Amino acid sequence: MSDTKLKPCPFCGYNKLKIDRKRKREGYTGLDDIVYYDTYSVRCPKCFSRGGAVGGRVLSRISYDGELPEWATTADELQAKAARAWNRRANND
Ligand SMILES: [Zn+2]
Repeated sequence: MSDTKLKPCPFCGYNKLKIDRKRKREGYTGLDDIVYYDTYSVRCPKCFSRGGAVGGRVLSRISYDGELPEWATTADELQAKAARAWNRRANND
């Protein structure tokens, strides 16, 4: 899990925000890992506003024992990016 702290919702001030994941299966690597396309975005469950979506390709194998291919990222990385996108937006006055 990412430890990036989410700022409260800029619209309603709510601070128990959710990070949503949308997952789409794209196929398999040559090593039989499943390749997913995950999209993360921060959502306010109170007023339904939503931060910018951040997507990337993620491999099914959690303990990937080697270098990640350059086209792949990790769930942690995507969550952290979604959190940064949310916090950046929350800063805009
Ligand atoms: Zn809100």
